[in-house]
Amino acid sequence: MLQLKNVGLDYLAGKNTVHALRRVNLTLGGVGLVLICGPSGSGKSALLRVLAGRELPSRGEIAADGQSLVRADERRRSAWRRAVGDASAELLLPDRTVAENAAEAARMAGWRGTDAGRQGADALTALGLAHKGTALPGELSGQDRRLAALGCVLAREPELLLADEPAEGLDADAAARVIGVLKTQAERRLVVVFSRDETLLDGREDTTYYLEDGEIVRVKNEPVSLPAAGAGLPAPPKAGLGTALGNLFRPRGKAAVRLLGAFVSVLAVCLGLSALRGAEQGALEMQAETLAAYPLVLDRESTASGDLEALADYLEREIDLNGASVQRTYAASPRIYSVNARGRIRQVTPEPETGTALWTEMPGGEELQRAGYELVSGRWPDRYDEAAVLLDSQGSLDRACMHALGLTGEETAAGLNYTDLLRLSFRVVLPTGEYVQTADGTWGYLGGDEGFMTDMVIKSLPLKIVGILRPVRTGAQDVRIGGALYMRELTQWVIDSVNGSAIVTEQLAHPERDVLTGLAFSDGTLDSDAAAMRQGLKNLVTASRGAYQVQLYERITGDKVDESAAQDLLLQLLEAMSEEDVARLFDEEIGRYISSGTLEENLRSFGALDAEKLTGLRAYAKTFAYRGELTRLLAAYDEKVSYTDTAGAVVSAGASLLESEQRIFPILRGALFLLGALGVILSSTLPALSRRRETAVLRALGMPGQRAAAVLTLEAVVPALLGGAAGALGALVIQMLAPALNDGLTWQGALITAAAAAVISAAAARLGAGDVSRRSPAEALRRTEE
Ligand code: ADP
Ligand code: MG
Repeated sequence: MLQLKNVGLDYLAGKNTVHALRRVNLTLGGVGLVLICGPSGSGKSALLRVLAGRELPSRGEIAADGQSLVRADERRRSAWRRAVGDASAELLLPDRTVAENAAEAARMAGWRGTDAGRQGADALTALGLAHKGTALPGELSGQDRRLAALGCVLAREPELLLADEPAEGLDADAAARVIGVLKTQAERRLVVVFSRDETLLDGREDTTYYLEDGEIVRVKNEPVSLPAAGAGLPAPPKAGLGTALGNLFRPRGKAAVRLLGAFVSVLAVCLGLSALRGAEQGALEMQAETLAAYPLVLDRESTASGDLEALADYLEREIDLNGASVQRTYAASPRIYSVNARGRIRQVTPEPETGTALWTEMPGGEELQRAGYELVSGRWPDRYDEAAVLLDSQGSLDRACMHALGLTGEETAAGLNYTDLLRLSFRVVLPTGEYVQTADGTWGYLGGDEGFMTDMVIKSLPLKIVGILRPVRTGAQDVRIGGALYMRELTQWVIDSVNGSAIVTEQLAHPERDVLTGLAFSDGTLDSDAAAMRQGLKNLVTASRGAYQVQLYERITGDKVDESAAQDLLLQLLEAMSEEDVARLFDEEIGRYISSGTLEENLRSFGALDAEKLTGLRAYAKTFAYRGELTRLLAAYDEKVSYTDTAGAVVSAGASLLESEQRIFPILRGALFLLGALGVILSSTLPALSRRRETAVLRALGMPGQRAAAVLTLEAVVPALLGGAAGALGALVIQMLAPALNDGLTWQGALITAAAAAVISAAAARLGAGDVSRRSPAEALRRTEE
């Protein structure tokens, strides 16, 4: 039973208020045929919309089965809409065939599955419309459209059947058929017909209400009493994912386009992000590598006071540990060589040219080690002759690490696996190892003799790589570079071995005499004393082997010589050489490696003086920007502080490049996301939103607003999600196939991008569906009118 009390309905037409209904009091119920008639503009259609629950009155009350619809929530109101059947052609779903429309109408009224289809088919057959089942509403004539709309209503078997001008626009034959159907229907339910024509039902109606200017002015055969309320309201239909998926594949072919749109958008974003990340990572790595190769190098002479410890303490106190690190080198820092498969040796630390130390001592104590590094492969080193490879914080083999491992030739990082790294071969060489005693008891320095060095290195202490470590990541800025780590025990071994060596023992036993020249220390320094230099060269000749002697003779004279005669000829040559020639040759062959003529300097060269004393400091900045800060700190410490800066120009060029590069990354990333979002919205959300009309119709048929919005949203999200996931997967596959092109995409990144596509399309769909899902169905229909 439906009751209207003092119902008024106003519209705003521009600035004027139109009273479509002024004051309507009406009670409808039971079974029968009711005619509401009135002239055009009297408010018939407005009244129909209120009765159908599509529009709420501006004033007054409407109650269904005793419950107010004005104060009801959307769920209850939509239940009422499902109990009503309105035969208006505007309630046909534009994208569905007539048969689908009829089935959907039945579904909305509570029929399930095939029952709904059968219900719809029966109704169409009853109206003689079965042959139009596969046509879309837009393909029908006006008359057939109205018949189809009536068919949909019959399929619903509504409690209340409403028909607005049912015969208008129909030919006589069809009009008679429709009126006949309505009369038959009125035997089972309440049928309310709205018409200008008082005679439309041939007086067969039970009651006639006369409507004029929004008010009922007269009633013919008003019922005395109405039977009690009918059956309960139908259960809300479960339209949701199924409807959305159904819609997705309706206009066929368009589904593929929508999936493809999301696929391409997400794929493009993923690949773009990947390339950007690769470029950014590359820039940071380049920075880290450059800075690792060019530390600020300070030695004993770098400060006026000569107090390197004080300078080290100062730096460690002042620097930001996230911006730089200070590395101390001691006299006893191990000298490490790599030996390749062909027996070729290469000094890997400290690098002879730059003095860079790529190998560092492992922090003492397990706790510190575990806090700073994590094990990637193998095991932690725990003996003096064991060491570990240190990857960069990305867990990859950077150029610094390649250098540390002596891999600068044909090997590429990509071609190496952990097993290869664990198989690399290293030797630890003592600083005393380059000196060999001659027949006369003095010691020759043989560092320039390649053959000797190779032999000596290969016979030195093997250092085994037992594990592969990487720094524990502490933050995004943390781009620690790779290298290798040895144990504190190795340093101790070097100290002990040096102290026990024959050359050191002998020098300490004869503190007044230079074991390298046999001369007394007071005779002068080597740098200025030609006699000492001549002796140093003679020692070199007598201590070295035939091959070196032959080369040296050739270098001096340009002539070939037999190995057996080389030594004597060289000694004669040296004896006869001018002081300038001796000095030049000494520079070339021995240079800085030999004693400067004091006991202290000799012991230092052998690594035996204050083995644990600082001999050098290296300040490594982690960013170009922080390198400037380091030089500022050094200048602030001591005006006279000096340091070797081998790469100032490289660094400042790199710094400005990197700065501009880094500024551009977030912008590019943002632009990429915007483009991707646009692609997703264009391809999956807009096609869904173009079906807002359908949402409005579904609401008029009784789908609750929230569910209607959810269907639209799902319709947008499903292609975005499926296409997006495929796009993300595609990007990962492309990266796997061509890692050189794209190496910055993580699966998390891909996942997030795909998820973002779905979220964006959902948000856009929600936004777009808002007005048709929240306003009244009548308003939603008006807004989506074609
Ligand atoms: P009927 O169906 O009896 O011809 P209606 O119910 O369609 O009349 O209209 C009643 C009055 O309300 C008319 O004056 C009409 O102009 C007005 N009206 C109906 N709908 C709207 C609307 N959406 N906006 C403004 N005025 C409206
Ligand atoms: Mg009308």
